Amino acid sequence: MFSLFKSKHNCYCAFCKTPRNIYRKKNIGVMNIIAAAMASIVVMFAIWQEYDPRVMIAFVVCLAISEVFVQIRWRLSVVCRTCGFDPILYVKDPTAAADKVKVQLDVRKQDPKYLLTKPLNLPTITPKKAEALENKGKGKLVSRSI
Ligand SMILES: [Zn+2]
Repeated sequence: MFSLFKSKHNCYCAFCKTPRNIYRKKNIGVMNIIAAAMASIVVMFAIWQEYDPRVMIAFVVCLAISEVFVQIRWRLSVVCRTCGFDPILYVKDPTAAADKVKVQLDVRKQDPKYLLTKPLNLPTITPKKAEALENKGKGKLVSRSI
């Protein structure tokens, strides 16, 4: 019951298994619409000091801004901050997703901040299995040396 009201969803990264939160909301909800209506009314009084039909334009603009904001927030929260794994990009383009993880792991390797933290729990693949995977044409494997 309580979890219904939580805006974030607890889960684990599909790649490095780090626990993290993802925003539940992909699109704006009733609360955002009410907030946008209130914001546009405030804007209306601030600009015209009375009721003005142009408030509808302000309302639509507020709605559009909150929709874009919620979507960007959700999109950013989906990407793992630890290893850079992006499940949405992975569905569309696994190679690009693997490249992104590689870049993120390289950044981690060079950042002294991460030297003392415990190593990531990356999927372990034996050399034999790695070869089989690469032969299958699933793209290059990302470095597992971190
Ligand atoms: Zn991760």
